[in-house]
Amino acid sequence: MKKDCVFCRIVGKELPSHLVYEDDKVSAFLDINPVSLGHTLIVPKEHYADLLQTPDEVAGHMMMVAKKISHSLEETVGADGFNLGLNNGETAGQVVDHLHLHVMPRFKNDGLKLWPGKQVDPENLEKIAKRMRSFIRKD
Ligand code: 5GP
Ligand code: ZN
Repeated sequence: MKKDCVFCRIVGKELPSHLVYEDDKVSAFLDINPVSLGHTLIVPKEHYADLLQTPDEVAGHMMMVAKKISHSLEETVGADGFNLGLNNGETAGQVVDHLHLHVMPRFKNDGLKLWPGKQVDPENLEKIAKRMRSFIRKD
């Protein structure tokens, strides 16, 4: 628990939230400024600043919980699809430095746009893939 962390305080129920789900590893509650109704944040109960600091078993568990939340959003708000979002680091738009996975329900014609793709030289794709393969951790 990090005393000045808003999500630690929500997890510890020192601050209110609209709780959707919790277990021994994670809490899930509604985002206070939702992209659309039902937008949920899944956070580890322990404070980890970002994905790379988070143990694999907790990170994996978050994805399992994202499925539960998504099923519930299909039933409740009638979502046609979902975006899962994880802003990792300030440069990527992370504002709260306690790992959180966004589950954002999508609706036909909701007008939301995903990030744009760039045209790149296919050779560069293979170059970067090769370098990345050499840095993939075996653990
Ligand atoms: P980030 O940009 O760090 O990925 O997203 C942070 C998210 O946390 C934002 O979507 C923001 O609306 C949400 N948020 C920030 N403070 C609070 C809060 O006190 N309670 C809740 N429920 N959500 C918050
Ligand atoms: Zn925290």
